[in-house]
Amino acid sequence: MYKERKGDKMKYTNNYKLPEYACDILKQDTYDKQEGKYSATELINGGLMNALIRKHQDDIIKDVTDNIWTVFGNAVHSYIENLPSKYVKELRVETPIEFEYYNPDKGVSETMEVTITSKGDLYIPGEKRLVDVKNTSKYATMYNKVKPEWEAQLNINRYIYKKNLLPIEHLEILCFYKDLGKIDSMKHDFCDIPLEVIKIPTWTMEETEEYIIDRVKVQLEERQCNEFERWRKPEQYKVKKRGAKRATANFNNYSDAEEKRFKMKKPGEYEIEYHKGEDKRCLEYCDVKRFCNYYKENYG
Ligand code: SF4
Repeated sequence: MYKERKGDKMKYTNNYKLPEYACDILKQDTYDKQEGKYSATELINGGLMNALIRKHQDDIIKDVTDNIWTVFGNAVHSYIENLPSKYVKELRVETPIEFEYYNPDKGVSETMEVTITSKGDLYIPGEKRLVDVKNTSKYATMYNKVKPEWEAQLNINRYIYKKNLLPIEHLEILCFYKDLGKIDSMKHDFCDIPLEVIKIPTWTMEETEEYIIDRVKVQLEERQCNEFERWRKPEQYKVKKRGAKRATANFNNYSDAEEKRFKMKKPGEYEIEYHKGEDKRCLEYCDVKRFCNYYKENYG
């Protein structure tokens, strides 16, 4: 299991030669892990990724600029801490969870118990509402899509709160869009301001418990990160008018793209552009990629 650790022990590079004060601001990482316990955030991550973090925690090297948006996130949390007392801020709760687990070393199934933890950003008891605050990109939620891992994370939090007799009927995310200027929002008709409240559907307690147990097993078995956990963007075949910036249509296989091209009024004016699939998390958001064989094989 992880050791308790704060960001000041993390090794940092300063690839962009920023002044010392900028580095000191950026190095205020607030990573912390409670030994022997799984948080909602950890449970939604890949088993391999968490296992590599445990194994290599003292060898992880980040550039200070990797923390730019973490600093913004922490700043928002400081504002939350100043809210009046009718709001419960960053309450940490935990609950044990028991399940049957096949122990491959002993060759038998046994009852296992682990503790799962939650730290909600903002709990409003009078409204039975739990709010999670995220700095994110508008593209992550375009067309009102709720990221499945966000939905899971909030429902795990709700499960743990409810086990601690803190009722929750409403789950929502307050999204701060870091990439949405006013002009963009008007042009694309997203929303008028770079801020949005997204309602999250609630799961039954039984569904959530089943999901949690499955995710604990993923962690115990240190399973290879799947496509979903790697934030896989599939390969695409784009049908484009020659010289145009935007595609007329996108497909995930060549034959559908070719069929579309032939159906255009002047097929000769169109071409098919291939875009390789990629794993966004592996490429941009995984601190342990240099220890990971999947990364080495695909991107190393
Ligand atoms: S590089 Fe990708 S596959 Fe490897 S641990 Fe990180 S997220 Fe998982």
